[in-house]
Amino acid sequence: MSANSPAQAYFRDIYETVKSIAIGMRITLKYCFSKTVTVQYPYEKIAFAPRYRGIHEFEADKCIACDACAKACPVDCIYIEKSAPRKVDKATGKAIGGELLRYAIDYQKCMFCGLCTEPCPTDCIHMGKNHDLSSYSREEMVVEFAELHKKTGQLTPMPLWAERNADTIPWVATEKARIERGESATHEADIPSV
Ligand code: SF4
Ligand code: SF4
Repeated sequence: MSANSPAQAYFRDIYETVKSIAIGMRITLKYCFSKTVTVQYPYEKIAFAPRYRGIHEFEADKCIACDACAKACPVDCIYIEKSAPRKVDKATGKAIGGELLRYAIDYQKCMFCGLCTEPCPTDCIHMGKNHDLSSYSREEMVVEFAELHKKTGQLTPMPLWAERNADTIPWVATEKARIERGESATHEADIPSV
């Protein structure tokens, strides 16, 4: 079989180029008219599934520092320290006894499996709805929940996007206020029975 002449090769290259552009444009046009699946976050609010597993929410005043969550964690990223044993006061439902010196989770390691929430005897550690823990250092990826609760009353850290957009986006202002009030994003009624 004889090889293509230079002229034949030249016109074949032009044909292949035009053909590949036409194929690409056909795909582009197809998606131009299909339903949009992305949202302009954070201007548009994203609705999370009831069982979405985001950054934890921790109720420090109910934690008895029993270590059950830390033992259940497959990557050992929960750190707990107490000054003395703690137990639940039946009258108030709050933990009494020694001081909860530290309850921290390292989000460089956490894989959001939710296994830590299952054995908790006082139901004080939950998977929250915040998904963003952007920060400027690795150290900031370790969230000191007990310290955070003591200083601010918050169950979960304030995301940067909430701090930066609360003045201009109404739903972000509402979300920021909820976190500041120490309210959980997930309520029992949100979770369907299975
Ligand atoms: S969600 Fe999973 S990985 Fe993260 S702290 Fe809980 S048990 Fe550990
Ligand atoms: S299992 Fe619950 S009560 Fe026990 S240390 Fe963990 S968060 Fe606290």
